[in-house]
Amino acid sequence: SLGMPPVGGSVLLADPRGYCAGVDRAVITVEKALDLYGAPVYVRKQIVHNKHVVNNLAARGAIFVEELDEVPEGATVVFSAHGVSPMVHAEAAERQLKTIDATCPLVTKVHHEARRFASDGYQILLIGHEGHEEVEGTAGEAPEHITLVQTPDDVDHIEFPPGTRLSWLSQTTLSVDETMETVSRLRAKFPQLEDPPSDDICYATQNRQVAVKEIAKNADLVIVVGSANSSNSVRLVEVALEAGAKASYRIDDISEIDEAWLDGVQTVGVTSGASVPDDLVQEVLGYLADHGHPDADAVRTADESLIFALPPELRKDMRAAG
Ligand code: SF4
Repeated sequence: SLGMPPVGGSVLLADPRGYCAGVDRAVITVEKALDLYGAPVYVRKQIVHNKHVVNNLAARGAIFVEELDEVPEGATVVFSAHGVSPMVHAEAAERQLKTIDATCPLVTKVHHEARRFASDGYQILLIGHEGHEEVEGTAGEAPEHITLVQTPDDVDHIEFPPGTRLSWLSQTTLSVDETMETVSRLRAKFPQLEDPPSDDICYATQNRQVAVKEIAKNADLVIVVGSANSSNSVRLVEVALEAGAKASYRIDDISEIDEAWLDGVQTVGVTSGASVPDDLVQEVLGYLADHGHPDADAVRTADESLIFALPPELRKDMRAAG
């Protein structure tokens, strides 16, 4: 197929895609911390789940660690956008670390809900993926009160004594449709189940799924830019396939595109996860153009204008530094 431009094809570029307000804030937090305090600045876990973002910040002097025992006493450490459990805050205080908390405010909101339900005596069904940092952080708010539910089928295996007060919460980056299925199965089994005060799946996750559905229904191929450990990026591939894309693949960058994916392909959809810098998407569009595909048409399904203020502890130091 190489050199044979598709006839009458199109490239559909999802909008919204890419950076959300929480990722933007977390990345700027590390950049400003490096400017203000100088390298090295420690970051617990990947600040956001994107290989390119992490490599770029590491090149500027950020040191990424898995746990706080790798951070020298008295050093500055940034907590990632996915949030941390209260135990991590306690360990940081004990080790006299200076902390800057880049937890997305929309994750913090879920932590508050977990604490409130737990203190009101509820058992909480937390819908999310085992081992994901956000789930570890949220569950750590009330470990005795939380049961993890990973899939709709998990509901069959969950039991509570009659009369148990139950509520549910979720990870912010799940498939909206699958989560709704899990909730309806939970409600069928536990009619007393109470809803959280608001959606936990965040606006950015929801908007990117609506946009990818729109481009996927007419696409032979949907390319999703995002890293393998990025929950919301992986969900975009699943949502694209469910919405009718004939094929969909996730790539970190154009080096991972297999030319054979484009064989016989007329309509290509392109999108990216919430932690993905847009230059990586522009490179995909360049790759497609080089392979005979037309310029991209943006398919816009929502406007986004949300911006979060930087963490207050960082803003205070920035003011003090003038
Ligand atoms: Fe916050 Fe949603 Fe972005 Fe996660 S994906 S950082 S919850 S806005």
